[in-house]
Order: sequence, then C-alpha cells, then structure tokens
Amino acid sequence: MKRWSLKVKLTVLYTFFMTLVTCFALGILFSLSNQELLSSVQSELKHQVEESLEEVEEDHGRLKVDSDFYDLEDSVYLSLYSENGDFLYGRLPYGYDVLPRFQEGQIQTIRNNREEWYIYDISHQIENYGKVYFRGIISVTRAENSMAITLRFAAILLPLMVVLTGIIGYRFTRRTLLPVVRITDTVQKIRRDEDLSQRVGLEKGKDEIYRLSQTFDEMLEELEEAFKREQQFTSDVSHELRTPVTVILAQCESILQDPELDSRHREQLQVIEKKAGAMARMISQLLLLSRADQGRQQVQKERLNLSELTQMAAEEQEILAEEKDIRILTDIQPEIYARADESLYIRMLDNLISNGVSYGKKGGYVKVSLREEGNMVKGTVEDNGIGIPEKSLEKIWERFYRVDASRTGQEHSGLGLSMVKWIVQAHGGEITVESREGKGSRFTFRFPKA
Ligand code: ADP
Repeated sequence: MKRWSLKVKLTVLYTFFMTLVTCFALGILFSLSNQELLSSVQSELKHQVEESLEEVEEDHGRLKVDSDFYDLEDSVYLSLYSENGDFLYGRLPYGYDVLPRFQEGQIQTIRNNREEWYIYDISHQIENYGKVYFRGIISVTRAENSMAITLRFAAILLPLMVVLTGIIGYRFTRRTLLPVVRITDTVQKIRRDEDLSQRVGLEKGKDEIYRLSQTFDEMLEELEEAFKREQQFTSDVSHELRTPVTVILAQCESILQDPELDSRHREQLQVIEKKAGAMARMISQLLLLSRADQGRQQVQKERLNLSELTQMAAEEQEILAEEKDIRILTDIQPEIYARADESLYIRMLDNLISNGVSYGKKGGYVKVSLREEGNMVKGTVEDNGIGIPEKSLEKIWERFYRVDASRTGQEHSGLGLSMVKWIVQAHGGEITVESREGKGSRFTFRFPKA
C-alpha cells in the first residue's frame, strides 16, 4: 500500500466501497423482489382458479367446459376433478404426475420431478350435476427462473460496473490531484533551475487544494522579494566597500614607496596591504556573485586563444608559488581557440591555481593542463597538496564554505569556488573535483568551444 500513489489508493478505496454498497443494495433488492414475485404468483393462481368457475356448467346432465378453461393464462394450468378425485377436464403441466389431496382454499407447495409447484383447489357445487373440484397449478421454479436470469444479468453487469467505477474514479482523482502535481513540479523546477520566479499559477478555484496552491504562490512571491532585497543589499554593500578598500590599497602602496620608512612601520603596512588585498578580492567576488544572482553579470564572449591565456595565468602565479616552494607546471595544447569572456576566464583560472598553491605542500607542484576534446575545451588544475576530505567534496562549491578555516588563514573567504563554478556554467560548461586527503586535488572544467 505504501508504494501506491495517492491516486491509486483513493481509486481502490472508493471502488471497493462502491462495490460493497452495490452488492448489499442488490442483495436486499433481490430478496424483496423474490418474496414479492412469489406472493404475486400465488394471488394470480387464486384469481385464475376463481375465475374458471364460470367456465364450467351443466348441460343435459353432462358438464360443458368453455374452451377458455384450456388456455394457459398467466401460466396457470386449470383442471377439473370429480368429487372422488377423478380427472375430468383441463390441462396438466408436462412432467407433472402427482395427485395430491384436495385442500380447499389453501395454497399447497409440492415438489415433483425436480420442480416446485403451487396448487390451489376450490370445490364447487354445480346445479343438477353435483360437487366438483377446480384445481389450478403453477410452476414456482419457472417463476424463479425468470428471477435467476435477472440475477445472472446483474452478475455480469456488476464487474463491468466495478471496472467503470475504477476508470471514472481514477480519472476524477487524477483531475482533483492535478494541482498537487503542479505544486510538486514547481518546487522541483525551483530546485533544479534555482529560479524563484516560478509559480504554480492555477486558475482561481474554491477547493482546499486550489487555496493551498494560491497560498504557495503568495509565499513564493514573498520569498522572491526577500531574496531580491538580500541580493540588492549584498550588491550595494560590496559596491560601497570597493572605494574605501581601493583607497587603502593605494595609500599603502604610496607610503611603502617611501625609502625613509623604517622597517617596523614597513612590516605593519605590508600586513595592512595584504589584508586589504584579500578584502578587495572578497568584495569583487561578492559583487560578481550578487550580480550573477540578479542576472546582471555580463558575460562578454569573444574568440580567444585560450592556450596563451592559460599559459599567462599560470606564469602570473609563479612568484606566489615560489614563495611557498611550489612549482607551477603546464601541459597546454597550443592554439586552442574558443569563445569566452577573457576576464572571467582568467579569474576562474587564478582562483583554481591560487587554491592549488595555498593548499599545496612545500616542494610540491601545481599542474595546469588544457586540451581540446571534440568541440569542447577541457582544462585541469591539479596539485599534490593537502587534499579535501570526502565529506566536504560536495560542499566546497557553497558560498563561504571552508573545509578548515584555521588552516587557511583570514585571506580565504570561501567564495572562490562558488565564483569559479558560476563562471564555468556561464560558459555552458561544468566543473568537477577529485581529491584525496593528504594526496592532492584535481579540478576539471569543460565547456563548449563555440
Ligand atoms: P577559499 O577562499 O577559502 O579558498 P574556495 O571557495 O576557493 O574558498 O574554496 C573552498 C574550500 O575548498 C577551501 O576553503 C579549501 O578548504 C577547499 N579547497 C579549495 N581548493 C582546494 C585545493 N586545491 N586543495 C585543498 N583544498 C581546497
């Protein structure tokens, strides 16, 4: 039962009850009809026998019987007997071969040759002739047979009715539950496309499910509004913070150029510059992501020599890598051209390579490779650093997620990979990661060239 859908459960339930009620109603109906039938057979028998009295009269000392006496009116067989019980005139049913005792004015039920009969007798005194018995006989079995035919008909009709009820019931339930299917589809679409602008959008109705769907739409409306407000807030804050951070960086740079600056202040300023640089990176990542959320981040694709760009991005990280005693290796297929946004592509690679350096091991390497695969571009950034624990592999793409904040320091915000993922997707591609803790990580991105 648990595996059945609600549609099937409801259909089975009311088909079952419908069948039960119909069987019950038919049972009562047949039992009442049977009683009614038998009592009407009896009264018909009486009536025919009483009427037949007029069809026999005396004529010159003999009995004269009207031809109507032999008619099988309402299936009643009429016969006439002498006072001693000798058969005089009339008709007897085929297969009826008993002569029960006369019981005046009473219905007798007898069984003969596997048939059941009702018998009704009246004695009558005929003037100038004497006493005679009028007997009427009618088959109960035959009357009941006509009922049995109706019963058989009902037995065929009942399964048909059950099937019909099932079909109509199923269609009706499906129609009634349609809004629920629409609600589920909408939720799935929202999850799949991460698009809160989806609505169930059912026409106005009055039943509970329609009201549920309306309430659901209203709730989505409010959620979307709240999301938009939050996106706008993030975008505004990042935007506002950009200028002061740029000023701080510029001031630091300018003061650091002063040759008379003493070493203690120089060191302090370098710390400020480093932190302000990390902050500027975080702000620009936040700005890109919030613009992307609002659908405002522009992707200006043009035909680029990706091989050269990748080589350049790798070389730019060499100074940083050398500080950590990490080598940057490249394996780049030359002359790969593809349509991409130059600055976004570089930001993506910078992030992947700098992660490889940040989470790399002293004396280790970060290897950047680029290949053509049919009409796709495939790139990998691989390191033999600390790796990522299996349970974190799914989460590293989430915003502000860091496997272990204490091991990365304050410069890492946990926004980089969210941005990388968005950039790859904005190019119609996808990015995956393989990693083993203590052994290293490999990020692989693929996107179409055109
Ligand atoms: P962060 O700014 O903290 O580097 P990212 O979004 O780039 O943020 O990465 C999220 C987390 O994934 C990082 O905090 C780090 O724990 C893990 N991670 C990313 N790249 C690597 C890598 N090459 N090796 C090991 N861990 C990594």
